[in-house]
Amino acid sequence: MRKVLAFDLGGTKIAFGVVAEDGSVLKSDRVETVASKGPAQAIERAVEGAKKLLQELNLKPIDLLGIGIASPGPLDISRGCVDGSPNLPGWSGYSIEGEISKAFGLPARIDNDANAAALGEYLFGAGRGKRNLVYVTISTGIGGGVIVDGKLMRGANGNAAELGHLTLDIKGPPCPCGGNGCYEVMASGTAIARRTREALAAGASSKILTLAGSVDAVTTHHVLQALAEKDALAVKIWDETTEYLGRGLAVIINTFNPEMIVVGGGVTAAGDVLFTPMRTKALKYAFPRLAAVCTIVPAGLGGDVGVVGAAACAFEAAQKN
Ligand SMILES: [Zn+2]
Repeated sequence: MRKVLAFDLGGTKIAFGVVAEDGSVLKSDRVETVASKGPAQAIERAVEGAKKLLQELNLKPIDLLGIGIASPGPLDISRGCVDGSPNLPGWSGYSIEGEISKAFGLPARIDNDANAAALGEYLFGAGRGKRNLVYVTISTGIGGGVIVDGKLMRGANGNAAELGHLTLDIKGPPCPCGGNGCYEVMASGTAIARRTREALAAGASSKILTLAGSVDAVTTHHVLQALAEKDALAVKIWDETTEYLGRGLAVIINTFNPEMIVVGGGVTAAGDVLFTPMRTKALKYAFPRLAAVCTIVPAGLGGDVGVVGAAACAFEAAQKN
């Protein structure tokens, strides 16, 4: 079976692995990024780790089709590097793609991590066979990737589908992107915790405070714990959250007319308590004709999505060559 090497870059860790063409991860490992010490040391250690994996699998670079790299955006695709990525400060201009390609003597392809995840879910995950698919990840931020007519939409310079920055409220809180009330500023895990802390600081009484210990320690997890006990503030916060999430998904449905929206990311661990209201609201706010053909499902790749997504980019690139 054909195989590729895949790297999933993040602000705290770099995961890497050898992935077969059925999407199975043959072997994987990770190193700490230590992003503040710059790209060279991190990429060097990740390359070393990946070489060790190849040895353990008794593989040589020549046995591989190529290399896929998933990275936080924004990216400068023409130079194979990040360009002002908040998760990798100081890394702009260093050709991650070029250095990794050189280390193995193989073609490499870098893509935005959420776009790579979309391709991964399309080829190997929950979206197999769906030619029009949107992937949305809800975690500390909100990211997205779009498959149109069976192809990943990369856009004019590789940065398409920054769905986390759809404006939901022009009077909303500021977003690091420079906008206000972006989808991720209203509805990400970080936003859920922030809105809850604001309500508590304004004097709302709730079990959430007891569960968290202090206002500053509140996370989405505490909100969900209190929600299970029908705590009034948790119910209100969660209702607002699924309202924002549903509104955003409705915009996505109306824009891309997908057959399926695959939703991943840490917040989706909430399960039905998230999916049921979010789905109902999304389909209610979208045009009925578009809503009628769209299903909204949990991601299929779980914790492997980063590495498998990067691998999907490598398989796609190899197909074109
Ligand atoms: Zn924004």
